[in-house]
Formats: sequence, C-alpha cells, structure tokens
Amino acid sequence: MDIIREPRVYLVGRQIIDDAELDRFLADHDVRAWETDTDVAGQKLSEIAGRVCYMSFARPRPGGNATYLRHILEVGHGSVLEHAVWNFIFTGVSRSFTHELVRHRAGWGYSQLSQRYVDESTASFVEPDCVADDAECHAIFEAAIADAQAAYLKLVERLTTRFESVEDKTMRRKLARQAARCVLPNATETKIFVTANARALRHFIELRCNEFAEPEIRKVAARVLDVMRVEAPSLFSDYEWKALDDGSRTAHTVFHKV
Ligand SMILES: Cc1cc2nc3c(=O)[nH]c(=O)nc-3n(C[C@H](O)[C@H](O)[C@H](O)COP(=O)(O)OP(=O)(O)OC[C@H]3O[C@@H](n4cnc5c(N)ncnc54)[C@H](O)[C@@H]3O)c2cc1C
Repeated sequence: MDIIREPRVYLVGRQIIDDAELDRFLADHDVRAWETDTDVAGQKLSEIAGRVCYMSFARPRPGGNATYLRHILEVGHGSVLEHAVWNFIFTGVSRSFTHELVRHRAGWGYSQLSQRYVDESTASFVEPDCVADDAECHAIFEAAIADAQAAYLKLVERLTTRFESVEDKTMRRKLARQAARCVLPNATETKIFVTANARALRHFIELRCNEFAEPEIRKVAARVLDVMRVEAPSLFSDYEWKALDDGSRTAHTVFHKV
C-alpha cells in the first residue's frame, strides 16, 4: 500500500474571453478602443467587471491591469474578483483535508472521488509529517492503516455475499462499498476536483496558509498560491512568504478578506 506525504495540485482549467462580444459591448457604449495589458482571462474579466461598475473604459488610468486590480484590493471591491475562475484537481490528499476544504462554501464547487462507487481495497494513505518523522509513530500508523484496509476487504467480501440477491452488479458493489468504507481512516487518500474564483481562493489562502492552519491544508494552500502567482500575478503577487520552524511556508498580505 502506498503512503503519500506530498499533495499534488493540478491547474486544469481557466477562462477564455469572447473578444468579438466584448468589442460589440464596447461599441454599443461608444467606447472606440479599450485595451489592457494582461493575457490572463480571469484578470482581464475582473478588470472589465470593475470598469463596468463605473463605465471607466474610455480614459483608463496608467499602470495597466496589475495597478487596476491592486486598487480593487485596496478599496476592498471584492465582488469584482468573483468573475475570475479556475479549475483544479487536488490528489494525494487525505479525507481529513477534504473535510476541512469543503467548509469553504462561498465561490467554491467540488466533485470528490466517491467511496460508494470506487473500490478502496488498494487505496493509498496520507501520512502527516510529524508521524512519518518519528519511527514509533510511523510504525503505529502503518499497522493501523494495514488493519483498516484488511477490515475493509473483509467487510466488502461479506457484504457482497450478503447482497448477492441484488441483480444489478453496480448496485451490489455500491451497497457493499458504501458500508465497508466506515472502517477506512481519515488518512485515506482522495482526489477532488475544485472550482474556485479569485476572491474565494484569496480567502482560502489567508485562512489556510498561515501558522494556525493544519499542516496538510497549509501545504495545499501554499501550492495553490505557487500556481496562482504564476497564473495570475495581478491577483496573487501581493503575498509574502514566511518560513516556519518546521520548514513549512505561510503567506501574508496586507489585503485581508477582500
Ligand atoms: C484554524 C482553523 C480552525 C478551524 N477549526 C474548526 C473547527 O474546529 N470546527 C469547525 O467546524 N470548523 C473549523 N474551522 C472552519 C471554519 O469555521 C470555517 O468553516 C472555514 O474556515 C471556512 O471559512 P469561511 O466560512 O469564512 O469560508 P466560506 O464558507 O468560503 O465563506 C466565505 C465568507 O462568506 C461569508 N459567509 C459564508 N457563508 C455565510 C453564511 N451562511 N452567513 C454569513 N456569512 C457567510 C463569510 O463572511 C465568510 O467568511 C476552522 C478553520 C480554521 C482556519
């Protein structure tokens, strides 16, 4: 059985802009030409959304998209950031992690691996660093997950027999797996597809990439920030990294909860 210690963050989706429709909107509102200096659709859409509020396309202040969005952060015009949306897949994360993640409601969408449908007999497990780094703790962890997996297998076997009168094979497996999963630990690895807007991501980073957050979610939040600083610097480059004694990173900004 695989033991995982590092989460993976895949940025799998981003927006595109329909330039023809944007030009049509601008022409309909007597704006002959407007351009900005970002190719990142989420950043451009956020700027457009902000400019629609004040119809300020005609005489943009200098500084481009980064300056415009920094001003949005400064004044706390947070709803503008909800128009920038990205899609991620997180893997190598535990069920404990996703339980914390899904507490983030506003501006998030989730689709998580189903333990009712998917066979968990070969599941991997996520081990906390402080457990892995201590030989005795690690041995306790290994024994516990081996026992849990063995119990899961036995339950699936018995329950599959018990439900053998159920004709539909998929339903029969589901009935067995949905009950047997009760013995799997919080450490069981899972995968989750996540969609979030820039405002929601910033709030997540603020709450979860600091010293008070649980280490696994802090790792994921730090990776999300790594990805987003490259992906959308106008929206995410205001954070400063700080190293904690255990080597993990926290991120801090002056723009709280926009
Ligand atoms: C260090 C830490 C420890 C934690 N410990 C626990 C714990 O022991 N037990 C536990 O249950 N949770 C715990 N949490 C989770 C925490 O309570 C929040 O559920 C989680 O951080 C999501 O934050 P949020 O509600 O601000 O985010 P979101 O749900 O994304 O909401 C974003 C913002 O929208 C607004 N909002 C959203 N929904 C509502 C609403 N219904 N009414 C009014 N305003 C709303 C709020 O301003 C909120 O901040 C912990 C979180 C942290 C960071």
